[in-house]
This record gives sequence, C-alpha cells and structure tokens, in this order.
Amino acid sequence: LFVAFEGGEGAGKSTQVRRLFDWLGLVEVPARVTHEPGGTPPGARIRALLLDPASAGLSPRAEALLYAADRAHHVDTVVRPALEAGEVVVTDRYVDSSLAYQGAGRALALDEVRRLSAWATGGLVPDLTVLLDLPPEVGLARARGRAAADRLESESVEFHERVRATFLDLAAAEPGRYLVLDARRPADELATAVRERVGALMPG
Ligand code: C5P
Repeated sequence: LFVAFEGGEGAGKSTQVRRLFDWLGLVEVPARVTHEPGGTPPGARIRALLLDPASAGLSPRAEALLYAADRAHHVDTVVRPALEAGEVVVTDRYVDSSLAYQGAGRALALDEVRRLSAWATGGLVPDLTVLLDLPPEVGLARARGRAAADRLESESVEFHERVRATFLDLAAAEPGRYLVLDARRPADELATAVRERVGALMPG
C-alpha cells in the first residue's frame, strides 16, 4: 500500500505522516516513512540545491527536472523496494507537488510535468493521496521561519493560491483515490480520519 501526503506550506504533513507511521507500528503493520525532495542520500543533495537561496532564479524546466531526478531515484531505491517487500510506504510529498509547484506555480504545462513525472516514477501512482488543504495565508504564517520554506515564502500569495487550487483540482478529478482534509482541524481529528481511511484499504 502506497500512501502520499500532499499540501501547501505549513499544512502539517510531517506531523500527520508521523502519526500514521506510529499507528501502523502499534497495529504491527510493517511500514516505511519517506519524503520528497530529499528522501535518499543523493536526493538530499538535490534538495539542498533546490532550496538554496542561490537557486532562486533557477529556470522552471531545470527545477522540474531536478525534482524529477530526486523522485526517480527515490522511487527506484526506496519506494518500490519497500512496496515489493510488502511494507506500507508513506511519503511526505510526491508527484502532485510537482504538478502544483512546478506546473501551476511556475506555469509549466501541467501535461508536460505529468509526463515527466510518469517517466520518472515508471508510472507508480499512490493507492491513496491525503491532501491537507488550507488557505495559503494560514499555512505561510505557520511555516514562517522554517528553513525549508524560506525560498517559497518569497513567492506571492497568488503563487500559493495556484498551488492550492491545483491540489484541489487533482483531488476532484479522482475522488476515490484522495482524502481531502481541512488542515485547520485539530491534529487528533485529522489523524483519526487518516487512520480510518488507511485501515479500510488494508487487507484483513
Ligand atoms: O515539504 P517540504 O517542506 O520538505 O518541501 C520543501 C520545499 O520545497 C517547500 O517549500 C515546498 O513547497 C517546495 N517544493 C516544491 N516543489 C515540489 C516539492 C516541494 O517547490 N515538487
């Protein structure tokens, strides 16, 4: 079972990823938590490059290719092997982040980013994508001061509005494969909603 968490800055993804992982441990389901960008050693180098303030003027295509490179290596060396070993894989960000940030955010054609992502992942699609949705003003206020968010904090609210709208559109296009939650709800409630949905997808 492959579960992805998506959402904007400050949505609480890492908290919910951790809560799900802790629960899977309690119910003794073998699981692995991972993240993008940077879920592998080479990926960590790519992440540092992407988030470096010196990369602020990076060409949108170069940015999209770097995220795709990070993802390709992540899928080949972490995600697929873990799935093949029968583990539940929970990732903090996946393809939808590229469609939202590099596609809508940077104004690359969504279809091109989709094709690039499909090639990078060999077509691996999550069984469930949890979208933690919240207005950008709320998320940016929460994320302020966090190093990883520094670069994108300098983007306009419109940029983050496009990102949010794209996440919501992707979810609306495939309602059966998404769980959309209002990230302003208390963390305990969100964790319960995620557990119920993941539990329903697990065999036995
Ligand atoms: O989720 P995390 O905080 O680790 O992401 C690091 C930064 O990279 C965030 O600011 C996020 O918005 C950005 N990002 C991006 N495009 C992606 C994935 C992440 O711009 N495909």
